[in-house]
Order: sequence, then C-alpha cells, then structure tokens
Amino acid sequence: MKSFNPKCHHPTVQLLGKCKTLYAFKQVHAQLITTGLNIYTYPLSRILLSASPLSLTYVLTIFNQIKNPTVFLFNILISSIITHHKSHTHIAYGLYNRILTHKNLTPNSFTYPSLFKACGSHPWFRYGLALHTHVLKFLEPNCDHYVQASLLNFYANLGKFDVARYLFNQISKPDLATWNSILTAYARNASNSASGLTNGDSCLSLEVLYLFTEMQNSLVRPNEITLVAVLSACSDLGALSQGIWAHAYVIKNNLNLNCHVGTSLIDMYSKCGCLSIAYQTFDNLPQRDTSCYSAMIGGFAIHGYGQRALDLYQKMRLEGLLPDNVTFVVSMFACSHVGLVEEGSKIFDSIQEDYGIEPKLEHYGCLVDLLARAGRLQEAEERIKKMPMKPNAIIWRSLLGAARVHGNLAIGEVALKHLIELEPETSGNYVLLSNMYAKINRWEDVKRVRKLMKDNGINKMPGISLVEINGSMHEFLIGDKAHPSTKEIYSKLEEINQRLLEHGHKPRTKEVLFDIEEEEKEDALSYHSERLAIAFALIASEASIPIRIIKNLRVCSDCHDSSKLVSVIYQREIIVRDRNRFHHFKDGTCSCLDYW
Ligand code: ZN
Ligand code: ZN
Repeated sequence: MKSFNPKCHHPTVQLLGKCKTLYAFKQVHAQLITTGLNIYTYPLSRILLSASPLSLTYVLTIFNQIKNPTVFLFNILISSIITHHKSHTHIAYGLYNRILTHKNLTPNSFTYPSLFKACGSHPWFRYGLALHTHVLKFLEPNCDHYVQASLLNFYANLGKFDVARYLFNQISKPDLATWNSILTAYARNASNSASGLTNGDSCLSLEVLYLFTEMQNSLVRPNEITLVAVLSACSDLGALSQGIWAHAYVIKNNLNLNCHVGTSLIDMYSKCGCLSIAYQTFDNLPQRDTSCYSAMIGGFAIHGYGQRALDLYQKMRLEGLLPDNVTFVVSMFACSHVGLVEEGSKIFDSIQEDYGIEPKLEHYGCLVDLLARAGRLQEAEERIKKMPMKPNAIIWRSLLGAARVHGNLAIGEVALKHLIELEPETSGNYVLLSNMYAKINRWEDVKRVRKLMKDNGINKMPGISLVEINGSMHEFLIGDKAHPSTKEIYSKLEEINQRLLEHGHKPRTKEVLFDIEEEEKEDALSYHSERLAIAFALIASEASIPIRIIKNLRVCSDCHDSSKLVSVIYQREIIVRDRNRFHHFKDGTCSCLDYW
C-alpha cells in the first residue's frame, strides 16, 4: 500500500460512491485495479467506504488483501462496519484488536468515537470501560473533542451521569458539539419512555436547563440540536416560560424551523397544557414529517381529544406519510383514553395488515391498555397470554391499573405477581394493589402487601408537583413544609378545605394509604402535593392565568374531585398533567370526564 496518491480525484475513484449495487461496485473496482490506483491510501479509503454498505464479506476480503494497512484505513473500516452492520460489531472490535497487537500501529483519536457509539448497546458496555483506559493510555489528556463527546455519551447512555458530568467538567473549553452531547444525553434520558407520553426524570431535565444557562454564560451560541434538548426538558418540567423563550430564540435568530425543532415545539406546548398553541405551531410549520404528526396526535391524545387525534392520523395518511412506531402508539393511546376500543383495535390490526410491520411490544401494550381500561379485562389478559414476546412491566401495570379501577381483584393479583417478578423495586406496583384492597376494606391484605414492601426494602415513591409562577418553578412534596411561603400556603389550604366542605365535598379517605387512621387520612389528603401547589398558585399568581401543575404520580380521586370544585369556587382554570395525561378542570368539570 502506498500513501502517495498522484491522481486521488481520478474520475473512476469518484464513481465508487455512486454504486448502488455490489455488481456495479465490482465493475468500477475492476477498472480501478487496471489503473493501478487501488494501492494508494485515498482510493483505498473510498473503496472501503463504498463497498462496506453493499457487502461485509466483500469489504473484508478487500481489506485483508491490503499490505500493511494504516490506522486511517482501519478506522474507516471500523466505523463503516459499526454504521452499516450493527449485528457484526464484534468484527469491528476484532479489527481494533489487530491495531493493538500490530507492532507499528497505535490507535488515534479517530479510532474511538465509533467504537464508543457501538458500546452503548448492552452486551458491549464492559468493552467500553476497557476502551476508556485505552484512551487514557494512547491519547493526549485533552484530546480531540469528538473523543471526549463520544466518551461522555457512552457513560450517559449507561445512565452513569456522574461520570459523564465529570468528563464534561474536565473539558476546559467545551465547543458546541460537546455542549450538545451532554445536553442531548441528559434530555434523552430524562424523557426515556417507550411512548414519549409519560413524564420523565425531572432532576435530569432541571440539569438540562441549568447546563444550558451555563452554556449561554460561556458565550457558545446554541443551534437547533441544543434547542431540541432544551425544549424536551421544558416539556418534561412543564416549564412554559422557558419553552416560549426557546421558541422566540429560534425565530429571532433565524434558526432553521426544521421538523426536529417543530416536533419539539409541538410537544413542549402540548405537554405544558397549551394545546391550541401546539396546534397553531403545527399548522404553521413550513414542512411536516411523521414525527411532527405523531407529536400533534400525542398532544390531542394526552388532552383527551381522541376523535381529533384520529382525524389527524387519517389526514396524515391521506398526505401520503407513513406512520411509524410512535404514530401507532400515540394513536392507540388516544383511543384508549376516551374508550374508542373498536377504532384502537383497528389501528392495531392495520400495523400488520396494511403496513406489513410485525407489531412490537409497545403496540401490544397499547392494545392491552385499550381493552383493560374499557373494562374488557379478561380479553386483555387473553391477549397478553397470546403475545409472541414476553410481556414487560408496562403491560402488567396497565392491567393492574385497570383491574383496580374496575374492581377486579383476581386479575389485579395475577398482574401484581408478574410485576413483582419483573420490577421487585418499584413501589407504585404495591401501592396500586394495596389501594385496591383498601377500597374494599380488606385491611388484612393491605397489611400483607405493606409487609411485602417492607421485607423487600421498598419505600413509597413520594408524590411531587411542580408549578410555574412568573417564570420560576416551585416544587412540592406531600405534606411539604420547605417552601418559604409555607405559612401562607397552609392557611390558604385551610380556607380551601373549609369552602370545599361548604360545597358538600366529602373526602374519599379510601384513596389514602392503608395504615393511617381515618382522621389522619383526611389530613394526608389535604396535603397531597398538588393541593399545596394549587394553594400556592392561588396566592401567588394572577387570577386570569390558568394554574398549570405537573405531577409525577396519578391524581387520586379525591384530589380530582376537589380540583373540580376549586375550579368553580375560585373561578380558576386548573390544568394538571399527571403521570398519564392532562386534566383540565374548569367550571366544576374535568376534560377527562372522570375516565382516567
Ligand atoms: Zn390526591
Ligand atoms: Zn380529570
């Protein structure tokens, strides 16, 4: 192999990239061999790059015939195998080992980014840890930003944010790409849920907003990728003011309002409770792809507009756009939350019949949820038994949730048994079942579940509500007394409770956890986190603005009832986003029509 390349831009070399089939490629390759150019580095790199997507065997045969390949060529082959042949990642690692054992070769900063990217997926993560030691051994301490960015992405994908953050802090002057890496990693992991409809991890989202402020202080200008991460954090936190600011930034700085940014904006507005602005944004986008449609359908879905979601799904198909996994999920979710069982089942059937796609686990999850919520629990259980893959915790949890609502203990117990096997550490599962026992006064069973939780060392996840007042976020836990305005909040709460009683509100004490005495139960109810948030918002915000609350757990029926009443008594619109969906409380009713 020779490095000097006299005619590297020879027309035949340029032809390589245009070959769409292996047959065409072989013809051009043969021509190159006759010119003798095939032994120079640049033409060789083009040969490897162009052959790799077409045939792994062929590209390896070519590579193995190169005499003394350079690290540059190794790097090209490694990265293109990882890009085009994910299931053959082990071959890429084999090539990397050949560099290590070669006496004249040392890996360089271009060797690592693709290897770290491949390590992100489960079976290889240990390999990534080993690779990190190699980076320390072979590269300069403050090496290339791409290596740093790929390393921190690797740790962030593993959920090791402390390490990712440590690595980030080591970088003296992070550039835009590095900032985007850390912001995207945090944002993606915060909103990591199959459907993209449920709440994420608010700590990670807060971190995104915090890091973003730091980034602006360091005078690095954000681009579209940065704003997508920021908007995703805003959606998660319900941080409307920040989200509006990000939208204004896009417009003022002439950033490209592409489909990614558009999708994030629609998602942010609808998850912050502003469905009509979400729709305006959707309507005004210069171009719309499947993701934009899915975000809007999802927006209608969580706000309980099942029919509008379905109409949009129909419109999208008429425009010739193909639905993807997310579209199917959000459309079925829309049906599930308003009881459109037939429509939802039709979408499920169409996945295979019309689009020839094998339904995935999340689609079965939607189907089970659809049937179970509508009270067709037996049918839901049957569908789970017939699934071609092993049902996950989400599926059992929706069955358990529906069994609780419909008071079907037998199915609830079956679901819990599976759930505890899959997720022995999740408190919500036990709480759902114990609430179910409590509802029918089976206190012995409640105690048994309580003991099971204790034996397994599980604590109940605390309810947290976030409320945005004049652009800043306030957080409340159940019975919280940490807020600076605690005194005012509790006296407002007393006033609210008094007025609720006057309006004939009877606390539903069965919603409260088991071992508390009756009187205390009433107390605990009045201190549920969203009540504190509502009380604070009534004191601290303008009367004309709706109160927007984001809660990490489901709203209990008592808080649901009392929020309806508060909306009449205080003439305030209250918008609560709970774990699953939105509740718009206005003039004494809720948009969910008590179906949640
Ligand atoms: Zn409550
Ligand atoms: Zn509701």
